[in-house]
Amino acid sequence: MIPPAFDYHAPRSVGEAIGLLGRLGTEAKILAGGHSLLPMMKLRFAQPAHLIDINRIPELRGICEEAGPGGDTVVIGAMTTEAELIASELLRRKVPLLAEAPRLIADPQVRNRGTIGGDIAHGDPANDHPALALALDAVFTLQGPRGRREVGAAQFFIGPYATALAEDEILVAIRVPAPAAGTGWAYEKLKRKTGDWATAGAAVVLRLDAGRVSHARIALTNVGPTALRAAAAEQALLGQPLGDAGIDAAAAAAMSITDPAADLRGDVAYKTAMAGQMVKRALRAAAARCA
Ligand SMILES: Cc1cc2nc3c(=O)[nH]c(=O)nc-3n(C[C@H](O)[C@H](O)[C@H](O)COP(=O)(O)OP(=O)(O)OC[C@H]3O[C@@H](n4cnc5c(N)ncnc54)[C@H](O)[C@@H]3O)c2cc1C
Repeated sequence: MIPPAFDYHAPRSVGEAIGLLGRLGTEAKILAGGHSLLPMMKLRFAQPAHLIDINRIPELRGICEEAGPGGDTVVIGAMTTEAELIASELLRRKVPLLAEAPRLIADPQVRNRGTIGGDIAHGDPANDHPALALALDAVFTLQGPRGRREVGAAQFFIGPYATALAEDEILVAIRVPAPAAGTGWAYEKLKRKTGDWATAGAAVVLRLDAGRVSHARIALTNVGPTALRAAAAEQALLGQPLGDAGIDAAAAAAMSITDPAADLRGDVAYKTAMAGQMVKRALRAAAARCA
């Protein structure tokens, strides 16, 4: 299908893009990799009169490291592609979950164009980056006419396709605290075939101290109206050795917060059960990586 007609704008700076967003108002949409927006336009679910293409803004690309008193933070420009995340030596060293998990997103063509910022800003509960961001305690830098503000991943995802981004704001960067040495990580995603979204997914970040869980983050993909942080599942693990009983209790707590929609990927009971299985697999894989 052919999308409706639109005017095309290609700003060269974030300031110029924000000026355009302010001037064109609700008629305008940001264009990043286009792999979610263009399908929606072709299906006429979105009919923006103006597209503001942010691909020519160099300050939105790249991955760098910032040292701080609380530890290192990895700063990822919103226009960094999935392929660039996968290829990043810095991410492999500092936040390996974000170099590994994007391999499970879509296919090489989509990963070459699709951006981390677009994946997050789209607010699709089926996308993988929201749960990864929750598990990593990521913070998003949003910029609009009133300046910059920081919003934690836990506050950002409001509902299906609804986020804390105001209409005149751009997601400019994703800030990820580098996990301490010895931290384990895993993303487990059940999908029907290569290139599919998750039937259910679980992201885990885990630390053990003298054999007991000292830090746990568990987040779920595509089993609710947004990505879900499974806080009760984390609590079930803290201070305990990571044995079968604890893993079962965490999976049960995670399943209790899911609210999946039945669709071609399965009914509610199946998706709920698969969310529990993904939590169990991810916990075991993350534990095996704890130093
Ligand atoms: C066949 C196929 C399979 C896929 N499978 C998966 C999958 O398994 N997992 C997964 O996570 N994703 C999947 N995707 C989605 C893909 O990852 C998209 O690239 C991603 O959802 C959107 O990123 P984008 O850069 O293409 O953004 P776009 O499509 O350009 O934009 C998406 C939305 O976000 C807004 N936006 C984009 N960037 C910004 C920004 N910086 N600031 C403010 N608003 C912004 C746009 O206005 C638009 O509303 C798949 C896509 C396809 C076509």
